[in-house]
Amino acid sequence: MHELPVVLDIIRVMDEEAEKNKIKKINKISLVIGELSSIIDESVQMYFEVAAKGHPCEGADLVFEHRPAMLRCQSCGKKFPHTRDFQCPDCGGDSILIKGTGREFYILSFDGQ
Ligand SMILES: [Zn+2]
Repeated sequence: MHELPVVLDIIRVMDEEAEKNKIKKINKISLVIGELSSIIDESVQMYFEVAAKGHPCEGADLVFEHRPAMLRCQSCGKKFPHTRDFQCPDCGGDSILIKGTGREFYILSFDGQ
């Protein structure tokens, strides 16, 4: 349910970009979603299809790019993307989450004409 305000935000930004760049129709929007953001692709897609009606981005393809959370090893300092566990791939040490990573949600790029 929390995807709705997010979707409305995307549409608002796309309206502004369309106006600024004199774009009549937006064909494709690429979105970055962090794995910890708890935003679900399907929900974004569903709300978007309804809410974008009558906007320049109506019918645009949404492309989702997922970003992992990043971890930092407490023993050797290596930074690596979170996959299965919190173990450092280099030294096997315990790692901690780098604050703010994996919670991204933003518009990476868009195509229009
Ligand atoms: Zn390490």
